[in-house]
Amino acid sequence: MRRKLVAGNWKMHGSLAQNKALLDGVLAGVADLGAMDCAVCVPFPYLAQAQAMLQGSKLAWGAQNMSQHEKGAFTGEVSAPMLLEFGCKYVLVGHSERRAIYGEDDATVAEKYVAAQKVGLTPVLCVGETLQEREGNITEQVVGRQIDAVIQAAGVESLAKAVVAYEPVWAIGTGKTASPEQAQAVHAFIRGKIAGLNKSVADGLVIQYGGSVKGANAAELFAMPDIDGGLIGGAALDASEFLTICRAAA
Ligand code: PEP
Repeated sequence: MRRKLVAGNWKMHGSLAQNKALLDGVLAGVADLGAMDCAVCVPFPYLAQAQAMLQGSKLAWGAQNMSQHEKGAFTGEVSAPMLLEFGCKYVLVGHSERRAIYGEDDATVAEKYVAAQKVGLTPVLCVGETLQEREGNITEQVVGRQIDAVIQAAGVESLAKAVVAYEPVWAIGTGKTASPEQAQAVHAFIRGKIAGLNKSVADGLVIQYGGSVKGANAAELFAMPDIDGGLIGGAALDASEFLTICRAAA
């Protein structure tokens, strides 16, 4: 039985004061959450604050991106070893906003995935199709290609130390959630594809759903057999919504 993971992606939101209020609110409810894992992925400058506030609690923390390089002349970049120094457990790689706005391709995302695992961070590999790709009936082709890139770079066994987040691009921040059945179909495709290479890795792999998950729709999504929690954007900025989603995963 896989343990579900709910992770908040704060994106470029927050301030020291807002984060404190939000984390205090979440911390007030996490102790009662039971058998599930939870985390927040915060902007880089707030990692120290997350570390100071969350150390020793059930709520883990992580980053939303990282460089594929370990160190060097890469102005403005942040490396995996740096994230590790701030106690990060997770790092998102290949979020659709990174792919679409910053031009990260599958090969770059795979390099980041490898660099994260090299230092012991758990990469949360984000995959998903655009609306155009869904309407063109190439969802499985796109998601399959995104997953193949990391399998080629790191081998299927590497997925034993990773999380996959299926996030249909058309559902992110739009208020349009994939139906539980639509999401389940893609999750089953992902698990089946990996099972074809290594069944035990596939059985143990946490595959989150992301895209307009809220307190009101989390339970029906998480009830699907291959949906192992969620990657939560907007709703992670509200402590009580985030806790409701976490409770749905317990
Ligand atoms: C996300 O940013 O990964 C996300 C799923 O956002 P939202 O929940 O706001 O759609």
